[in-house]
Amino acid sequence: MCVAGGDRIALFAVICGVFSRVLVKPIELIKQELRASPKVWLVTGVAGFIGSNLLERLLVLDQTVVGLDNFFTGKRKNISEVKSLVTHSRWQRFTLIEGDIRDPSTCAKACEGTDFVLHQAAIGSVPRSMEDPLLSNEVNVCGTLNMLLAARDRRVRRFVYASSSSVYGDCVEIPQSEGTIGRPLSPYAASKYTGELYAGVFSSAFGLETIGLRYFNVFGPRQDPDGAYAAVIPRWISAMIRGEPCFINGSGETSRDFCYVENVIQANLLAAVTDNPDAPGQAYNVAVSEQTSLNQLFRALYSRLSVHCTHLLNYEPVYRDFRPGDVMHSLACIDKARDLLGYSPTHGIQAGLDASLDWYRTNLS
Ligand code: NAD
Repeated sequence: MCVAGGDRIALFAVICGVFSRVLVKPIELIKQELRASPKVWLVTGVAGFIGSNLLERLLVLDQTVVGLDNFFTGKRKNISEVKSLVTHSRWQRFTLIEGDIRDPSTCAKACEGTDFVLHQAAIGSVPRSMEDPLLSNEVNVCGTLNMLLAARDRRVRRFVYASSSSVYGDCVEIPQSEGTIGRPLSPYAASKYTGELYAGVFSSAFGLETIGLRYFNVFGPRQDPDGAYAAVIPRWISAMIRGEPCFINGSGETSRDFCYVENVIQANLLAAVTDNPDAPGQAYNVAVSEQTSLNQLFRALYSRLSVHCTHLLNYEPVYRDFRPGDVMHSLACIDKARDLLGYSPTHGIQAGLDASLDWYRTNLS
């Protein structure tokens, strides 16, 4: 068979794609291997929503975990809840360092003896970053740089970090694929993108294996429903349960790719332990690839909660102005994470809402 130059390149790309797929292991096998041969993990932002969910899952898998947090938005009750959910012997495998990622010596201490870093600590809100860009930069950029330096110097095996769908900025291409991003629309987005750039440099220039995970609107148990910067799902659940108004910014046709936290845990485990040599040095979308408008989200929550809350009879959302810095639509293409990491989301938005509501009903009433 004779293959022309362009065809040869295409054939090579197909073979590489197939080869990468062969190298990815299913998540259940990865969990078995971790149980059989436990590792040491550092979770920054461990008292936060995603960090505490990662902690819980790692302890259930019999891993040793060091957690770092300065409790800026993180909660002590998140840590206590994890303690109440795991056995005493598993809890003994957890060490908490109360400290700040803006302090290089704290980062160095936290990385001592660590196999994998799951870096979640950040000032994680678009509107907060609009009000205080300097703080977002100090924590999300300088703090991440401190963590990268500490991980490099302590010879950590892999550095997995939380990036964000906000890096797509004004890119109007839907679904959003990793190769094409727009201009950031907020200091938060700029800080997350800068983190990706630094992580890329640490991969290429210093040989530290880094993997970025661009989370798309994560939700689930322990996500804070209170305060000016709360995310839409916990905020609306709490408003409905408490009989307070539910605000929609804009027409409600703004859409998001809402991702249940279980999918995010899966992506972190896969990113940390994959032995696919093509995987490191890049960023991946972590989402479900399901588009839900805010109006649809409102109806999904209302239909579930109105059955239990009689005060929700005739309850309607209150529409107000669109928020500056927000993007209109976000929807992820998750093919890259599927192909290179073996990522396969287990929870769509409906299953994720059911699981989250169980937790909020118990914890808010
Ligand atoms: P969170 O606010 O619940 O958790 C962040 C944690 O970082 C908190 O516990 C906070 O106390 C800690 N922290 C903040 N500044 C710190 C500092 N200087 N030193 C040490 N710890 C510090 O937020 P989350 O939703 O769990 O987000 C986790 C990560 O995921 C963040 O990096 C965020 O940017 C990213 N992310 C989240 C979402 C989402 O929908 N939740 C979407 C995209 C990206």
